[in-house]
Amino acid sequence: MVYDEIKAICPHSLQDIFLKSLTTFKIGGKAKYVCYPQSVEELKNLIQYCNQNKIQFYVIGAGSNILADDSGFNGVIICTKRLKQIENLGGGKVKAQAGVTLAELLQFTKNNGLSGLEWATSIPATVGGAVVMNAGAFGGQISDICESVTILMDNKIVVLQKSKLFFNYRHSVFTNCKICVIIDVLFSFNISNVEKVTFNIRENMLKRAKTQSVGFASAGSVFKKTDDLAPAFMIEQCGLKGLRVGDAMVSPIHSGYIVNVAKATSEQVLALIDKVKIAVKDKFNKDLQLEIILLKGE
Ligand SMILES: Cc1cc2nc3c(=O)[nH]c(=O)nc-3n(C[C@H](O)[C@H](O)[C@H](O)COP(=O)(O)OP(=O)(O)OC[C@H]3O[C@@H](n4cnc5c(N)ncnc54)[C@H](O)[C@@H]3O)c2cc1C
Repeated sequence: MVYDEIKAICPHSLQDIFLKSLTTFKIGGKAKYVCYPQSVEELKNLIQYCNQNKIQFYVIGAGSNILADDSGFNGVIICTKRLKQIENLGGGKVKAQAGVTLAELLQFTKNNGLSGLEWATSIPATVGGAVVMNAGAFGGQISDICESVTILMDNKIVVLQKSKLFFNYRHSVFTNCKICVIIDVLFSFNISNVEKVTFNIRENMLKRAKTQSVGFASAGSVFKKTDDLAPAFMIEQCGLKGLRVGDAMVSPIHSGYIVNVAKATSEQVLALIDKVKIAVKDKFNKDLQLEIILLKGE
């Protein structure tokens, strides 16, 4: 009954889907419904339906920063994957819908000789998720190029200018907001040329291949950088590279990553996180903060 109603609103919807198939960590139990709206209208109607029927919803992009609970999610997962429009507005301004991947946006900017996103090479994110997390690398971050964000909240479409987004290190006003849904983002790039942008992308690709090619499923860096010492450095100094709980392992290549070597569970990852936190606190007297987001079943 509920599924039929959801499908009538959003035809690209599925039932009883493992979250492990929707996250780069390849971990997570079943979500009751997974919906892929392909227009803002569908998205709006779907959220309205969830609110009216008191069904919990959770929005995901590429699922590359999420540790989904083994118990799954008893509600609607809204995946933005089908919101894919990119519009060149001229003068370096580009509008991209939430589900555009950074790889697609980077390709678009490269083809149009626009510079400012080259740091994002190989980050497996969507535009929406990247704004939520203020994703960044090699000294660049999404807040450098983001001008405004269009969101859906309380059934209203609102445009928020950058000054209202409170960007910080891997943080924005949206980071813990479960009711704000990013629809699209207006970016401002520097006018450059295809050759320069291509060169920058290649350089960053080589750097990443050297340091971050961990070879297993992951959600990227597990912990946020603290003021002075990098979590990866402290974890390595504690001798934790390769430490395992079940199939969850501190990557021997990049100790800031926890990898899923086969069939890790969220419970195993959380137990490993606890061990790492305790060791770092003991040796460095630092409290590691999670960068990854926990998606917990209700
Ligand atoms: C191999 C690997 C390398 C990585 N390297 C980097 C790196 O160099 N730098 C870096 O910053 N991160 C990195 N990450 C982490 C991750 O890619 C980023 O945090 C990214 O911004 C997450 O985007 P996403 O689309 O996957 O979001 P998701 O993981 O799907 O979601 C993240 C959060 O955003 C919310 N969200 C997503 N879309 C929307 C939306 N449209 N509206 C409202 N909320 C939304 C979700 O609810 C969740 O809270 C890496 C991850 C991996 C697996």
